[in-house]
Amino acid sequence: MPTINLRNVQKNYGGNSANAVSDLDLEIGDGEFMCLLGPSGCGKTTTLRMIAGLENLSDGEIRVGDRVVDSVINGVFVPPEKREMGLVFQSYALWPHLTIERNTDFGLRLRKVPKAEREERVSKVMKALDIEKYRDRFPSQLSGGQQQRVALARMLAVNPGVLLLDEPLSNLDARLRLEMRAELKRIHAEFKTTIVFVTHDQWEAMTLATTIGVMSEGTLQQMGTPDEIYERPANRFVAEFVGNPPINILTMEGKGRSALADRMGQFLAERFPALGVPGSVGIRPEAMRWTTELSEVPATAFSAPLDVTGILPTGGNWILELRSAGDKVFLTTDELPEIGVGAKVNIWVKPKALHVFDTSGKRLDG
Ligand code: ATP
Repeated sequence: MPTINLRNVQKNYGGNSANAVSDLDLEIGDGEFMCLLGPSGCGKTTTLRMIAGLENLSDGEIRVGDRVVDSVINGVFVPPEKREMGLVFQSYALWPHLTIERNTDFGLRLRKVPKAEREERVSKVMKALDIEKYRDRFPSQLSGGQQQRVALARMLAVNPGVLLLDEPLSNLDARLRLEMRAELKRIHAEFKTTIVFVTHDQWEAMTLATTIGVMSEGTLQQMGTPDEIYERPANRFVAEFVGNPPINILTMEGKGRSALADRMGQFLAERFPALGVPGSVGIRPEAMRWTTELSEVPATAFSAPLDVTGILPTGGNWILELRSAGDKVFLTTDELPEIGVGAKVNIWVKPKALHVFDTSGKRLDG
């Protein structure tokens, strides 16, 4: 199965609009489960549609393996049906007058696959997606989640090398979403299909992807494994978009910086003199610890005294809201805090859990 390569891809929908996608270089490896993640309007769907051939490029080139499927300079455009990719969108159109079995078989009939082979493939995917029991029903007799499974089965039956999915789970309730995520992971492992999956849900991307591409305002912010994206965000946007509760940001710039930021500035200057000028520092709520005993703070850690101003239980975990003049940070803990609102605590963070960004928002510590 081929690698998909996007080079310098641009998309402008015309008029006076800003680019929907700019300077996009993306490589999607064979067998990868790539999630394109980003807020609404960042260009995810446009990117997926360009890969599928449903949208023209304004500039750049797309290759699938050795084959150029789209190139503005060379005037190449391979139509969607010749790209051998399967597409499942948020709204999955099943044929209402065909049974589930016939729906699943649809793409194979279209491609004039011989009967014996069709039967074998249909039975294999129906089994994999656990929809055999609905084979004689019609789509209207199935739930949304079941219909979505049929839509996936219909795609998988034709065995596309590449499966393009645009928020395919967004119509499902929380429980079904979770089940379908597990299902998709299983399908990916079993069929070894290359999957490109568009979502605005960071949790979905973290749980599914082998690689995540984070986008903002039409540009790719970072590509990496879920761990890389989470542990070493390339810039402030990625740091703030991924993580729940969101990362705490201390603004280091300007004369009026807060007492906590000042303390952080001194800590960084002493510990990392070669770092460059920090514009902001991010601390994940789960990387922060608290104690009432100063002696418990490790010597190498950054620490600061703060007041507990809120304790929010989240079912087995707690979020502490902590303040000092001009600062408010959140910390998550799985230990029942034996202190109450009004208590004074020391928070501490290991140096390697600090995310330092320059004044433009780019990660400073390499
Ligand atoms: P969402 O999650 O809301 O679908 P997205 O990240 O998938 O968002 P796109 O749908 O790719 O974003 O849209 C990117 C930008 O291009 C947006 O500013 C959008 O308004 C614009 N856009 C998308 N489709 C068209 C179109 N057919 N004509 C004009 N502008 C469009």
